[in-house]
Amino acid sequence: MIRILDKHVADKIAAGEVIDRPVSIVKELLENALDAGATQITVEIKNGGKSYIRVSDNGCGIPAEEAELAFKRHATSKIVNAEDLDAIDTLGFRGEALASICAVARVELITKTEDAKAGRHIMIEGSEIRENSAIGCPDGTTITVRDLFYNVPARSKFLASDSAETRRIVDMVSRIALSYGDVKFNLINGSNRVFSTSGKGNIFHNIINIYGADSGKDLLPVEKARDGFVLKGFVSAPSASAPSRSRQIFCVNGRVVSSNVLEKALDEAYKEKLFHGRFPVAFLFLAMPADRLDVNVHPTKKEIRFQDSFEVSDFVTEAVKGALDVKEALPQIRSEVSKKPEEGTSSTIKEEPAVIKIPTKEEQIDIKNILSTLRRPNDVESESEKTDSAHAESLTAESASVAEKSPDTHFLPKKASVQPFDFDELQCMGAIFNTYILAFDEDSFYLIDQHAAHERIFYEKLLAEYNRREKLRQTLLLPLNFNVSAQIAATEEAWLSEICSLGYDMEFFGDNTYLVREIPAFMELSEAESFLHDFFAFLEDKPDLTNRITLEKLITRACKSAVKGGDSLTNEEIEALMKDLKNCVNPFSCPHGRPTFVRMKKYEIEKLFKRV
Ligand code: ADP
Ligand code: MG
Repeated sequence: MIRILDKHVADKIAAGEVIDRPVSIVKELLENALDAGATQITVEIKNGGKSYIRVSDNGCGIPAEEAELAFKRHATSKIVNAEDLDAIDTLGFRGEALASICAVARVELITKTEDAKAGRHIMIEGSEIRENSAIGCPDGTTITVRDLFYNVPARSKFLASDSAETRRIVDMVSRIALSYGDVKFNLINGSNRVFSTSGKGNIFHNIINIYGADSGKDLLPVEKARDGFVLKGFVSAPSASAPSRSRQIFCVNGRVVSSNVLEKALDEAYKEKLFHGRFPVAFLFLAMPADRLDVNVHPTKKEIRFQDSFEVSDFVTEAVKGALDVKEALPQIRSEVSKKPEEGTSSTIKEEPAVIKIPTKEEQIDIKNILSTLRRPNDVESESEKTDSAHAESLTAESASVAEKSPDTHFLPKKASVQPFDFDELQCMGAIFNTYILAFDEDSFYLIDQHAAHERIFYEKLLAEYNRREKLRQTLLLPLNFNVSAQIAATEEAWLSEICSLGYDMEFFGDNTYLVREIPAFMELSEAESFLHDFFAFLEDKPDLTNRITLEKLITRACKSAVKGGDSLTNEEIEALMKDLKNCVNPFSCPHGRPTFVRMKKYEIEKLFKRV
């Protein structure tokens, strides 16, 4: 039998689509607070949000006579007619969140607008108003959500443990707090303060406040502007990578987003700098012209699409690469386990990073103003469904004036704070343990792993050789007899041309033997020989060498044993090695992601000797 569902049942079903777990409630309430222009927001949760969620803000509040309406489905003050949808810049606009929440929980609202003498107190249970009275309270809105799914026990079964739900909430609030750097956030779990931010818009301080003092260690500032794109934020030094992407936070035009394009762009910047399975930490804020984001994807959607993803990824990779090309990116020897840094005294950030600023609320869009402008004429009638073109115009006009601003105006200009690494300032003093070259410059002391350095040089030279049209070979006075397995000899066509492309000249001699007449010019005979050994050893796995990535991988692996380690080097050899390293594209790590340099700041040495 087909029948129309009872309103309560329908509400509960609809609520499930918006509200699947506590974190979705927190998100909706947070977005409402931000849309209301709040500059201070406090989030409190208990039992992973299952028994208690409270979000208080100092935003524009809800007029007393509209307060009940806010809980009705499709009740919104944010759009009036269909055209508004194109210009909307608020986080919410569907008018569904509060209706959905009050269908599946006990909800209490306390709210007051600036011009009202008294506030409003509303209690709702299962969409039924239980109380609607005047109350004395400060300006702003507090919404408390208790006993989630008390009336839909089937749904509560799908919730995870308290700690897992708490983790989801903390992660989400952290990301939002970071992206709205000039809003003061407080997050309280049970009786514990999880974090609070200052609302002063300083990205670095916010990172420390939200993720803890240690997270600020080994962060490098990123800053680049080009063609209407501005990228700011912080990324980890390669030595401070993470086992997952959980600490990669991307904001595009003020919104927290997830983006494959940005993840890949970041990976590209760290290529060969990290071991397999390690990920950079990143807090990146991209400002770009809104019209270069795909219009079919609404900006409130988490997944973002760029019109020209190459343009974006290219820009991001270049900006991050630049950030990594500094002394501060090298792994550091520290004199002691670092103590909690005071504000602005991170060990890696020399200059006060306070000048990095994300868009302020006023620069973004004055929602508070828009909401109250929209409301004022409606105060008496309190009907948000009414289509009033005058109000609609004021909304679109406001939005348009904000959209016109170029992203560059969102950030204050800032001078470069960190200098690129300069090889020419290095002075080498020989090597210790036949392994580590000692070097120093004005403010630092370095150990350079001669084996890792050699591996890097060897790898880049070999790749360069492969790409060069005219190979630089050296002819051996006495050709080398090189034995291979019967299988390798039988599959010559799979590898011979590739080996020649690398700078070798080999010829079948019979009986599984090849005559090597020429080797790459930059190699010593022993290197050339061990490279061939490894190359053929890996060929047994039958890789497809026509695939460039496979070939590079094979070269990477074969380089490892080809270069000599543990040899004592003369000063001239050290100098030559450093010169070759300087010419590398990626001098600070071996092809497998091991560091070539370790750095100790003069200051750390002074600390050890108790001079400072
Ligand atoms: P939406 O955000 O999509 O408009 P909601 O159900 O989340 O829908 O909220 C309904 C309306 O209630 C909003 O349009 C807004 O006018 C009002 N409202 C909700 N939360 C707040 C708040 N914290 N401060 C001011 N007004 C709010
Ligand atoms: Mg909302």
